[in-house]
Amino acid sequence: MKQNIEISKIATLPTRNGTFKIQAFKDGIQENLAIFTDPLPEIPMVRVHSECVTGDVFGSQKCDCGSQLDATMKMIAQNGGMLIYHRQEGRNIGLVNKVNAYALQDQGYNTVEANVHLGFNADERTYDAIEFILNYFNLKKIKLITNNPSKIANIKGAQIVERIPMITEPTECNKDYLSVKKAKMGHML
Ligand SMILES: [Zn+2]
Repeated sequence: MKQNIEISKIATLPTRNGTFKIQAFKDGIQENLAIFTDPLPEIPMVRVHSECVTGDVFGSQKCDCGSQLDATMKMIAQNGGMLIYHRQEGRNIGLVNKVNAYALQDQGYNTVEANVHLGFNADERTYDAIEFILNYFNLKKIKLITNNPSKIANIKGAQIVERIPMITEPTECNKDYLSVKKAKMGHML
């Protein structure tokens, strides 16, 4: 179990996708969020959404993060569950490296090639903060909303009893990104 995690109180968060509760978890410099329905069902839907400021906030069409976030929040509001906002920007390479990777993509590299060119693995994310949050809420069994086999393999702390696929409409800009996710990273799209 991790030590020295600062945990906020629980507050109400009305959003365009429904009204949720929110609680923040600070682990070193990384501040993650649990956004959840009250009450939580016995086997809640859980989505671990990795931070993507360009997609989530600015509506970037280079990836599907923004539309996935909206669709997930609607699904969770309807069915009960939890969105964990996992602040590992750019598959955990940070914004400077992510924008440099985008610059390489402007020159024709795909998302995986660009990361590798910068000296990173295709995916640098870690999931121990997620395990802490699942344990904190005592979630023993979850239905994980994901297309990513690496999340299924790496998320510990609760038993994944069902996988719920997350399908969003490809756009002209992100269809290459999505095909790389499928071909190179094994996403179930
Ligand atoms: Zn994104």
